[in-house]
Amino acid sequence: MVNLKGNKITYFGHSTFGLTTPSGQFAIIDPFVMSNPRCPENLKKLARLDAIFITHGHTDHIGDLLPLAKQFKPKIVATFETYLWLESKKTGAQCLPGNKGGSQKVGDFEITMTNAFHSNSIEDNGERIYGGEAGGYIVKLPGGVTLYHAGDTAVFGDMKPRREARHTHALRHFPDADRNTRSVARRDKGDRRSHSSRIESRGIAGLRS
Ligand SMILES: [Zn+2]
Repeated sequence: MVNLKGNKITYFGHSTFGLTTPSGQFAIIDPFVMSNPRCPENLKKLARLDAIFITHGHTDHIGDLLPLAKQFKPKIVATFETYLWLESKKTGAQCLPGNKGGSQKVGDFEITMTNAFHSNSIEDNGERIYGGEAGGYIVKLPGGVTLYHAGDTAVFGDMKPRREARHTHALRHFPDADRNTRSVARRDKGDRRSHSSRIESRGIAGLRS
């Protein structure tokens, strides 16, 4: 059983996770909530939203970004190109650009953007906007709890050192095997590696859809 030191993790389905700190602050990684077919109905109406962390701009990750940004005016972290697009939308939320390896404190959350091997674009009224490179996040919560959200990604070597980072728990959403991402369930002959064996986190704090 993972000791989250008073923090709480809520799984909204697909790759969307909610993080609540002991002070009550609430953040979402990848705001795909109301239009998310895998999100339980009782989670679709949020009471509060202080921060949003975006891994990349595909619709199944930011499908509800704009309405949530307008409603709650949270602080929103995204890679630079996605940040520029978001600023152009005039949501009234405070947008914070980031890039890989960079860390910033957003309320109770200390985040570092990590690498991910995946494409990134934003569907905007029939247009496809370049969103910068896709990423993931390491999130430090109060009490010294550290989480890793890989975003959408192929397996890659940099995931391995995470296991040396003690107290890191992986939010394990890894997509099913398809042409876009490599699944934890897919193991080719001669290659026994998988997302989960790469990370070897100390606990499972999430679900795989
Ligand atoms: Zn994607």
